[in-house]
Amino acid sequence: MQKVTLAQPLLEWYDLHGRDLPWRRKPTPYTTLVSEIMLQQTRVEAVLPLYERFIERFPTIQDLAAASQDEVLTYWQGLGYYSRARRLHETAQIIVNDHNGLVPDDKTTLRTLPGIGEYTCGAILSMAFDQTELAIDGNLLRIGARLFLVSDPINRMQAKRKIQANFEGLLPQKRPGDFNQALMDLASRICLPRNPRCTECPLAQHCQALLGGEVAGLPKREAAKPPVKVQVELFLVESQGALLLRKRESGGFLQGMWELPWYDSESHVASTKLKVSDKHDWLSTHLAQDPLKVAKMDYVFSHRHWLMTIFHYHTDEPFQVPMEKDILYQWQPLNSLAQLALPTVFKKALRILL
Ligand code: SF4
Repeated sequence: MQKVTLAQPLLEWYDLHGRDLPWRRKPTPYTTLVSEIMLQQTRVEAVLPLYERFIERFPTIQDLAAASQDEVLTYWQGLGYYSRARRLHETAQIIVNDHNGLVPDDKTTLRTLPGIGEYTCGAILSMAFDQTELAIDGNLLRIGARLFLVSDPINRMQAKRKIQANFEGLLPQKRPGDFNQALMDLASRICLPRNPRCTECPLAQHCQALLGGEVAGLPKREAAKPPVKVQVELFLVESQGALLLRKRESGGFLQGMWELPWYDSESHVASTKLKVSDKHDWLSTHLAQDPLKVAKMDYVFSHRHWLMTIFHYHTDEPFQVPMEKDILYQWQPLNSLAQLALPTVFKKALRILL
């Protein structure tokens, strides 16, 4: 397969059919950084309504670096995977403090920044700096498995290496960023996961799966492990129109997010009426009465499946919460909850009980 034979029809197709996306109109290294981190594990349709609002509020990397983490998380609401927002914020601060506010244009430095993995690095270098780098994600793996007839499961490293090597051999010196974006558009419009539209595909003449009649069986994928089930007890504690929330500043799941107090009831000692651990006895002391309501709810994250028991308590007076290392507790007025970046699982729990 000659470089020119594949890149040329692909780029010609892209010039005619490429998607008009806001981050493609006047791209800068900063806007490419923001859009590519937003697009990680997220569909373009979900990013579209939030990208412009984010860039309007943080038009430069300096604006983003100077903002509080809470505000960045608030502008990330609706995108999920909040750890990306925290890493983007941290990356912006590193770029402003250590790189004179300029997004690095070399692979080694870029890869040291939080949130920038192999794919995002390739996307930034090719799209913002015109470097011949590949940005390979699950969509490109799907096209590659078909185009190059790779029958190993695409979630295995062996398949990824084969597909990457094939695509790298085809990357054009001119317009490498458009080459990557054209493949992304092809994946979203033509080479679909199910029922690919091969009759409209600009690469049909080069597609080994199509030529060999094997499109329907590709890509292959090894079954993913189901999320681990965790028994969780969640406490909705209300007092004088305020709700007890907490934020864990470092380490662990949901780091830096406001959350309702919750405990993994299997790994904590179930020694009190409330089944909170010894460590959290202060909570049981303040909530000695029966709960107003108890509800059950399931919530599935990417790797965890929470089987929740939700306890709704009311106390006459907001009680003082003891200091815990790296954990901040706060009484938050109910009418200001919408301004906080509260993960969806807690919003759903609130909807059930309030
Ligand atoms: S010909 Fe069909 S299977 Fe092959 S790359 Fe195009 S859309 Fe995908």
